[in-house]
Amino acid sequence: MALTITCPICGKRNGYEFKFGGEEKGPRPDEKDLTPTAWCEYVHMNKCVAGVQEEWWFHKDGCGSWFKIHRDTTTNLEMEVPKVKHPAAKIGGGKSDEQA
Ligand SMILES: [Zn+2]
Repeated sequence: MALTITCPICGKRNGYEFKFGGEEKGPRPDEKDLTPTAWCEYVHMNKCVAGVQEEWWFHKDGCGSWFKIHRDTTTNLEMEVPKVKHPAAKIGGGKSDEQA
């Protein structure tokens, strides 16, 4: 099962061109009340989902970009994620959701 990754700049490429950057973990913990234990858990503890997870990839043999994809860890297949409409798209005379 060959891994292919779709770089947002270069397009679909062989997985060997990329370096895995880890799971998407959300925002960093607030430094104000951060304990060493909480920081260690944030850095080192992973969910290791058997299924679709959001993760970081680096295109090391290409454009040098960091980006996120959704990948099914059981099949190594990238998952299409529906694009969320940006609220600013309504500005400038476009159709709003109520009119559609
Ligand atoms: Zn690229």
